[in-house]
Amino acid sequence: MKPGVFAYHRAATVEEAVSVLAEHGDDAKPIAGGQSLVPLLNLRLSRPAVLVDINRIPGLSLLESAGGVLQVGALARHADVEHWPEARVRCPLLYEALPHIGHVAIRNRGTIGGSIAHADPAAELPAVACALRATIVVAGPRGDRLLPAEEFFLSTFTTAIETSELVVGVRFPWQAANVGSCWLEFARRRGDFALVGVAALVELGPDGRCERMRVACAGVAEKPLVAERETRLRGEETIGREFADFADEVAREADPRADLHGSEWYRRKLLQVLVPRALRTAFERARAA
Ligand SMILES: Cc1cc2nc3c(=O)[nH]c(=O)nc-3n(C[C@H](O)[C@H](O)[C@H](O)COP(=O)(O)OP(=O)(O)OC[C@H]3O[C@@H](n4cnc5c(N)ncnc54)[C@H](O)[C@@H]3O)c2cc1C
Repeated sequence: MKPGVFAYHRAATVEEAVSVLAEHGDDAKPIAGGQSLVPLLNLRLSRPAVLVDINRIPGLSLLESAGGVLQVGALARHADVEHWPEARVRCPLLYEALPHIGHVAIRNRGTIGGSIAHADPAAELPAVACALRATIVVAGPRGDRLLPAEEFFLSTFTTAIETSELVVGVRFPWQAANVGSCWLEFARRRGDFALVGVAALVELGPDGRCERMRVACAGVAEKPLVAERETRLRGEETIGREFADFADEVAREADPRADLHGSEWYRRKLLQVLVPRALRTAFERARAA
């Protein structure tokens, strides 16, 4: 398959990219790693008249860890973050989820900004960003905007950014010392998109008991499904029941789509299995820290 005809514009700065996007509106699209866009072009599911290549814009591959935040530039490749020791220490949830994205070759090219902007509901990074309450930094003709991840993702392949805007970075808050995390997913083969993915966070109180749990799930709704609960049954012996009860609630809230790989029922069932498992691991990790 070959893409349709398009004009190619290599932007040297964010301002230039934004100005070309603004000039062409819906007819233009940025291209970063190309791991999602190129297949869409080749299948002619996407037919932009202008491609704005942002790969040569300096400064957009920034990785910085300071002031309680991991700042990841939009052009940082998945592999850059996967091999960044600061991500392992400060944001273990992000670090654990990254190796599940496709295969090594895809992670070497695919970018953090591209994955966030693409907003595939089965993708790892949107769920992780929502779980961690990350902030998406967006540049546009009127300057920069900061969008909380939960407001950024609107629906399947749809975000709150306008056609003239560019994702320039993502800010992930450092994980607090009393919080444990876990990423779990079920895919038919390693490297496939997950049928269901779960980002779980458990917060401990000063007595070492679970106080709050939060999950963001991929593959079960049109955007990451986020749920949070304060622990009701605080006893050690009842925590398993609490996790299972929370998972039932999440499964009821989910709106999964049936496809070739699994029915709606099956995906809900996966939630009921993966959510308690991920919460239990997050809980144990928080206590071991
Ligand atoms: C075989 C295969 C398996 C994969 N498996 C997974 C998987 O398991 N999990 C997963 O999450 N992903 C998976 N992917 C997708 C991969 O993670 C992509 O890298 C990612 O989705 C998009 O990043 P990109 O940089 O390649 O973006 P591109 O393909 O260049 O762009 C994707 C979309 O985002 C837009 N865009 C890109 N950058 C920006 C920006 N900075 N601002 C605004 N818009 C932008 C583009 O216009 C386009 O619409 C897979 C891809 C392949 C080919």
